[in-house]
Amino acid sequence: MRVEVIPCLQDNYSYLIIDKINNTACVIDPSESKPIINFLEKENINLKYILNTHHHFDHVGGNKDLKKKYNSVVIGYKDDSSRIPEIDILFEDNQIWKAGNFEAKIMHIPGHTTGHICFHFSREKLLFTGDTLFSLGCGKLFEGTYEDMFRSLDKIKKLPQDTKIYCGHEYTLQNSKFCIEYDPENINLKNKIKEIKIKLENSLPTIPSILKDEIECNIFLRAKNVESFSKLRDLKDNF
Ligand code: ZN
Ligand code: FE
Repeated sequence: MRVEVIPCLQDNYSYLIIDKINNTACVIDPSESKPIINFLEKENINLKYILNTHHHFDHVGGNKDLKKKYNSVVIGYKDDSSRIPEIDILFEDNQIWKAGNFEAKIMHIPGHTTGHICFHFSREKLLFTGDTLFSLGCGKLFEGTYEDMFRSLDKIKKLPQDTKIYCGHEYTLQNSKFCIEYDPENINLKNKIKEIKIKLENSLPTIPSILKDEIECNIFLRAKNVESFSKLRDLKDNF
């Protein structure tokens, strides 16, 4: 399996997971169809599945066009069946999705929205976190509670430390400014910021990040309890 990062809209990332043997792909959160189609046509790959982490327009905007063009199957969380366009297959927490050589576990991680999920490709150690866990940040609480988000991040923290984190937006540099403001002595964080800057200077995505780095550097994952997490989330909203 190969993962291709596809920049979309202003600062979104969609991801193609490509099965090289069958020349097929699934896409995670197609913000828009055009950049996805451009890539697939260039490489002559068929898009079999569309996986959505949550219903926000910048994560599902390409569903309709892509499904029409490739006859792809759309997959999402059961409680969001009325707000994910063109949804075909509904999944619950902890269910395994298996199709061809693709296999992922669906984890319900509410907070940013009530129906937010992530896709864990455990064999390849890939985690697609949408707008729940960002590199050096976490999503805003639009629908869920502090407690929801704290628990969701805690679930993610328990995955293998070498899991690659693929999130929905390129927010890393902006997020790093908040982390360093409130965690100024963190050497790992300082080193990570250096790496981020080098990537961005070379027009490269800062994604994927590694879970171990996030646990060491992301101030939201370092919060010990809901109270301190809540304080950080409020501070970040006004940062
Ligand atoms: Zn969102
Ligand atoms: Fe988003």
